Amino acid sequence: MAGSKLPPLRKRIAAGLSDASADTVRRNVLEGLRPRLAAARPRYPNLQERVREIKMDALAHLDELVERATEQLKHNGCTVTMASTAEEARAYILNVVGGGTLVKSKSNAAKEIGVVEALEARHINVVETDLGDRINQLNGTYGGHIIAPAIQISKERVRELFSAMAGEVLPGDPEEIVKVAREDLRSAFAGAGYGLSGANALAAETGTVCVVENEGNIRMLSSLPDVYIAVVPITKIVRTVEDGLTVIQGASVFGVAQRIGTYASCISGPAPADGFGPREMHVVLVDNGRRRAVAEGFGEAFACINCGSCLDHCPVYAVIGDKYGVTTHIGGIGILQASFTSGLGLTASQGLSLCLNCRACVDPCPARIDTPGMHARMREEVPARRRLPLAARMVLGLTASVPMMRATGRVIHAAERLGVRRMAERLLPPALKAMAPLLPPMPPPRQMARPPELLEPIGAPARHTVAFLSGCVMSTWLAPINWATLRVLARAGCRIRVPASQGCCGALHHHMGEGGQARIMARRVIDAFAGLDDCDAILTNSAGCGAAMKEYGELLHDDPAYAERARAFAARVRDVSEFLALHGLGQMTTRIRARAVYFDPCHLGIAQGVTKEPRWLLRRIPGLEVVEATRREACCGSAGIYNLVHPEVSGRLAHLLTQDLCATDPDLIVTSNPGCLLQVRWGLARAGRGKRVQVVHLMELLDRATGTAPGTVS
Ligand code: SF4
Ligand code: SF4
Repeated sequence: MAGSKLPPLRKRIAAGLSDASADTVRRNVLEGLRPRLAAARPRYPNLQERVREIKMDALAHLDELVERATEQLKHNGCTVTMASTAEEARAYILNVVGGGTLVKSKSNAAKEIGVVEALEARHINVVETDLGDRINQLNGTYGGHIIAPAIQISKERVRELFSAMAGEVLPGDPEEIVKVAREDLRSAFAGAGYGLSGANALAAETGTVCVVENEGNIRMLSSLPDVYIAVVPITKIVRTVEDGLTVIQGASVFGVAQRIGTYASCISGPAPADGFGPREMHVVLVDNGRRRAVAEGFGEAFACINCGSCLDHCPVYAVIGDKYGVTTHIGGIGILQASFTSGLGLTASQGLSLCLNCRACVDPCPARIDTPGMHARMREEVPARRRLPLAARMVLGLTASVPMMRATGRVIHAAERLGVRRMAERLLPPALKAMAPLLPPMPPPRQMARPPELLEPIGAPARHTVAFLSGCVMSTWLAPINWATLRVLARAGCRIRVPASQGCCGALHHHMGEGGQARIMARRVIDAFAGLDDCDAILTNSAGCGAAMKEYGELLHDDPAYAERARAFAARVRDVSEFLALHGLGQMTTRIRARAVYFDPCHLGIAQGVTKEPRWLLRRIPGLEVVEATRREACCGSAGIYNLVHPEVSGRLAHLLTQDLCATDPDLIVTSNPGCLLQVRWGLARAGRGKRVQVVHLMELLDRATGTAPGTVS
């Protein structure tokens, strides 16, 4: 059912970007929540590791646990059905529910199988009892967030909806609205013959459905009506009740910064003959693509415990909200899940290309799910022409060959000198025309030439020997930054080896779903650096390349000839700032009187955990005042060539970031990644700040500070 009638992605993105009211609500909620989540985490130091262990163990023993849970639930007096598909699950529930009213609360699985629409089509009165879900039900929408479903609906709209229900215009006072909502629910509960909910976990050993909530409605709907139905995806099954309660705590701490939700219920069966509770309890176990996901190596997507924390940290969700996803499955994790529950045919056209690979969602996830890694692999399943615009495919083709990039750079340089580039840019289609300023003025061919294979230190005997990845964009179109880096390293006492046969590291290709090509490029880089055993480290000045090379072990894990070599190579990779912060810089010879703000590239700050080192280096520069922006974790929207794939989302992220950075009133914005550098320049130019504020690579600034003359390396 997910996304069955969705408009084209382009239109949905435009709708998400233009919904100013949802944007304001979302921003207020998320900006308030993120610090609370960050503050709660350290109080539970082992929780994340434990949740991951429980969920990964359950996935590894899925069939065994399904069998065990089924047996135990039956033993407890429940009726259990195993639904292979959404249709089977729906049919079973329609068979159980004869008529009247069904009260329902929080079940993403129920949304997934489309049971509400099916029941309503049979004239059964379905009442959502969670306030957020009820608002969506009245509004005719799906939820806008996994645990805050009404996040996208304004207060004014909520008032309208409940006024229509009450038959009078309600005042704006939230208390009045809640009063009307409560009365509505009370009458629904009083007449309901059926209750339906999802589950946070199902303990196999005891056959216990574990649920957590803050409103108490699941407790009521699982005990007041005669029939209680639990819709449980098989990947919610864990071994024990203790495991189930740990999952609940994970959802509470990571989802809402609460030690545990207000109502945590464990339901193991119907009421005894003389007891209080439902006469019947049905458990609908739902597969719907989950076993296939596990078999195909994407089971981790279903280790999700639906806490919503990934959405709270995702830059794409921040700007387009629930348009990132397919109605019933929201965000990056939702796209992965829906690829199995609804099919790759849907997600390939509805957002599989939207993940930035920024990794902002990984650490805040209670199960540390590698959503971006799975996106990169999932993209490999879809041919590039279905996922990527022509311009993006052309850039990928070009970066695969550094000599070709050099040749193109020389042509563009000549065209610039003749004034042809401007003329050519005018002829580009609108989407590419907007991007043209991203391409910097080409350096002269002399600078784009390959550096010597061995560079000696400047002004002192060698203290270290290092190897340097010259890269693709960095060695051609941004070659001055590479030369600056080599000078800084040489002044720091480094002998530098720059293997001639190296090419592009393959990061762009990997993230864009061209895994096969990325592996070829990774092998070439490993071969190029083979035998450089005298080098203390393999250095890069590009955060994206560093993050990719540090992951070569995973990229080539199933290549028998390269797996071990890839792991050994990855262990030696360092960002140049990490190396210099540890081993020291050359002498500072030049004062730089300026105010600078450092922007952390996601692939350095989040992916590599390198945030202190660039700042430490900046603070060594005499005269430089270093300030901090409010949101250090913001993504610029560059993400390799994301700006060619989703220019609107990328543009909005660049705008938000430059606004934030400019609020510090800097003379300089400093960063450590070519994509971020160009993207921030683009954002500034669009905001009319391009002349006032300079955007520089950290190595350019250190080059200025450590030498007034270019030295011997140029
Ligand atoms: S990697 Fe970034 S863009 Fe992708 S889902 Fe995670 S937070 Fe969102
Ligand atoms: S992927 Fe992780 S953070 Fe996101 S909802 Fe699932 S458990 Fe929570």
